[in-house]
Amino acid sequence: MTTAIEKIGYDKCTGCFGCYNVCDFNAIEMKLDKLGFYYPKIYKSKCTNCNKCYNVCPIIICNKENRDINKLKVYGAHSLDENIRKISSSGGISTELGRYILRDNGVVFGVAWNKDFLVHHIEIREEKDIFKIIGSKYIQSNVLDTYEKIYKITNEEKKKVLFIGLPCQVAALKNIVNNNNLITVDLICHGVP
Ligand SMILES: Cc1cc2nc3c(=O)[nH]c(=O)nc-3n(C[C@H](O)[C@H](O)[C@H](O)COP(=O)(O)OP(=O)(O)OC[C@H]3O[C@@H](n4cnc5c(N)ncnc54)[C@H](O)[C@@H]3O)c2cc1C
Repeated sequence: MTTAIEKIGYDKCTGCFGCYNVCDFNAIEMKLDKLGFYYPKIYKSKCTNCNKCYNVCPIIICNKENRDINKLKVYGAHSLDENIRKISSSGGISTELGRYILRDNGVVFGVAWNKDFLVHHIEIREEKDIFKIIGSKYIQSNVLDTYEKIYKITNEEKKKVLFIGLPCQVAALKNIVNNNNLITVDLICHGVP
């Protein structure tokens, strides 16, 4: 059996961090390539051919049900808070969804800048911190071990989690976490620059 990245090839890999999050043997590291995109690097000596990476890769395991246009419902909405609208990239609905989950004792994951001007997914448990994830960052996020954390929070803490990220990241997460405590928001995205 080959690893997921060997099966799909680098040109199809979205750098979603799914394989990295499920590898129990630290055989996968996410590395920036020379153009600044994250790709998995496999340490063959540590790989046990367990197939976990294969089973969560959204390019291999692709839920086509989500693409059925007849099952979609479409709504339009924006935040009623003018300050939120001003600092958001669109209508600020992601912040409103985040606030709702936090007030319901849940946890929110979204993308924030760090001090090196790179972006990464962070965990938010208090409403005062929600501003950290407001606004589109047109650079690929370092997902770190976010999916693993969400697996634990939804299964062990039994809390609701709202994950906001790119469609490839949401597809990977849903291949890893499959329970009713997970709520996802994916952006319209035609690729990280
Ligand atoms: C990489 C990228 C590509 C996009 N491509 C398109 C496009 O092709 N067409 C289009 O109409 N709109 C595109 N958008 C814009 C996107 O649809 C807007 O971010 C969204 O409409 C903003 O909604 P908001 O005002 O509710 O939220 P905001 O408060 O402005 O922010 C939305 C949320 O986006 C998340 N986010 C920000 N940057 C990233 C990132 N780099 N990776 C993952 N999540 C992130 C944050 O967690 C935040 O919670 C893109 C955004 C990004 C980040």
